[in-house]
Amino acid sequence: MLQQMVRPSPISATVDFDAEGMSHGFLRLPYSRDDAAWGSVMIPLTVVRNGEGPTALLTGGNHGDEYEGPIALFDLAHSLRPEEVTGRVIIIPAMNQPAFGAGTRTSPIDRGNLNRSFPGRPDGTVTEKIADYFQRVLLPMADVVLDFHSGGKTLDFLPFCAAHVLADKMQQDRAFDLVRAFGAPYSVKMLEIDAVGMYDTAAEEMGKLFVTTELGGGGTAGARTADIAIRGARNLLIAAKVMRGEVAPQPTQWLDMPDADCFTFAEDAGLIQFLADLGDRVEAGQPIARIWPTGRTGLAPRELHTRRAGLFTARHFPGLVKPGDCVAVVAVEIAEA
Ligand SMILES: [Zn+2]
Repeated sequence: MLQQMVRPSPISATVDFDAEGMSHGFLRLPYSRDDAAWGSVMIPLTVVRNGEGPTALLTGGNHGDEYEGPIALFDLAHSLRPEEVTGRVIIIPAMNQPAFGAGTRTSPIDRGNLNRSFPGRPDGTVTEKIADYFQRVLLPMADVVLDFHSGGKTLDFLPFCAAHVLADKMQQDRAFDLVRAFGAPYSVKMLEIDAVGMYDTAAEEMGKLFVTTELGGGGTAGARTADIAIRGARNLLIAAKVMRGEVAPQPTQWLDMPDADCFTFAEDAGLIQFLADLGDRVEAGQPIARIWPTGRTGLAPRELHTRRAGLFTARHFPGLVKPGDCVAVVAVEIAEA
């Protein structure tokens, strides 16, 4: 029988991951195209190493239109000093660099959604090649993974840090300890509606401690949510024993997303009129939005109702909706994870 050879990744790093001190460089992915026959996708990265200790992998720009993470990580790569580190920190502010450069959720090269492309392929699309490099090179180096997200252009969130409910309760509890240390205003036991192909799932299946965020949205970042990201990254590194210092404790409200009843989806196209705002407490069956048909006047709106009581945690951002769009997410207030 022929043994199938696993093709190496076409991505090369311009830094040595084992070098002591601060290294700024790139992940370079050859990408031949009309304006650069022997061109490359250049993904900026920083590696900070100081002796032996755990490795933290910090990422933003998994989706290209979410900004708190890239702000926090460009800031951290600029400000972190090797003497503050007790191990290794790998900082990648724009994982899906082509999407980040275009300000779009998915890659303009291949329409690839990086967070639905894992485990990726070394001989696939540009997005699949990036996923494959994280899957086979970067995730195996890491003990702790923090992947920043926000709502992007189409969603807006109450600012929260989150981890997933896992079969391995020890792994789950340690991840929730890092969520608590991150110190966002809200902390979430998160349910994914579409977990296949996610970076989260890839990291968790390798037994890594995985923490994520949703810190705002609308395709921009505010001052308050950027500060939450900057402070949260440092708090998490300290709690994970990758950085010296004391965690600056912050008050947080824990939220649970127990099942699919947290989500309300549009079945019609039209103009959305919200009947509650993010952070409002809602009852089960409460009208949360109206969708006005816009093709003619004189028609009644379609009313959408929540399916459980809780805190209005995320909403559709643009003023027009399409059938199938997620309109509202309601999460349940709980005492602790
Ligand atoms: Zn995202």
